[in-house]
Amino acid sequence: MEQTLSGLLKLQESDSMLDRARAELEGIPGELSLVESELSAARAEFAVVEARLSELGAVMKKCEEEKADSIRKLAEYKTKLLSLRTNAEYKAMLEQISFVERRMDDLDSRILETMYEEDAARKDIADAGRKLERYTERANRKKELLAERESVLKAEVDRLSGDRSGTASAVPIRLLRKYEQLRASGRSCAVVGLVRGACGGCHTNVPPQNAVEISQGIPYSCPICGRYIVDLDGNRPSEEDI
Ligand SMILES: [Zn+2]
Repeated sequence: MEQTLSGLLKLQESDSMLDRARAELEGIPGELSLVESELSAARAEFAVVEARLSELGAVMKKCEEEKADSIRKLAEYKTKLLSLRTNAEYKAMLEQISFVERRMDDLDSRILETMYEEDAARKDIADAGRKLERYTERANRKKELLAERESVLKAEVDRLSGDRSGTASAVPIRLLRKYEQLRASGRSCAVVGLVRGACGGCHTNVPPQNAVEISQGIPYSCPICGRYIVDLDGNRPSEEDI
């Protein structure tokens, strides 16, 4: 293969490695935010259970205060009962006592219920805490790995960019411009092989005379897609051999 074409092919290899490294590098912030959002979901889950537990604590406190108040009232009413003179007053006070007693029964059931709910919430908060711990560890590990990968990729991009300028400087400017145009138009493979007598990019058949020229290493640009067609089999294993 002619020197210029093999230079162009080398450039394309450099560029595809650069493209891959850059694409992976660009993906890192997205991976990081995924890690962060998983972690904040676990934090939010923990906060919900925590809020539930503190809400139950408040309910419990209120019930206990009301119960203490009821006990006080009951004692007060029972004392009063002894000093009442009329039947009507006595009857009214008994009703009040019974009302407070019913209220105390309700409070007892409510306290018991709340205790069960608190037990369940404590179990939930322990689970959520363990999950949060696990997610935090995992997120830290992943962030470390991504930071390492990022610095490796940055170094690789720097190295490849350096190599690329060296390779590009060896390619004739006319070919280089055409190559850059093809890449800019979105064709990552600006140089393709001659595959069974056709363009390896768009599969258009190449006239036999041009195929012969290609095999001699003469630069040939596909009239349909514009890619450079080279005889890869002359210098390197064909795709079938790999
Ligand atoms: Zn083509």
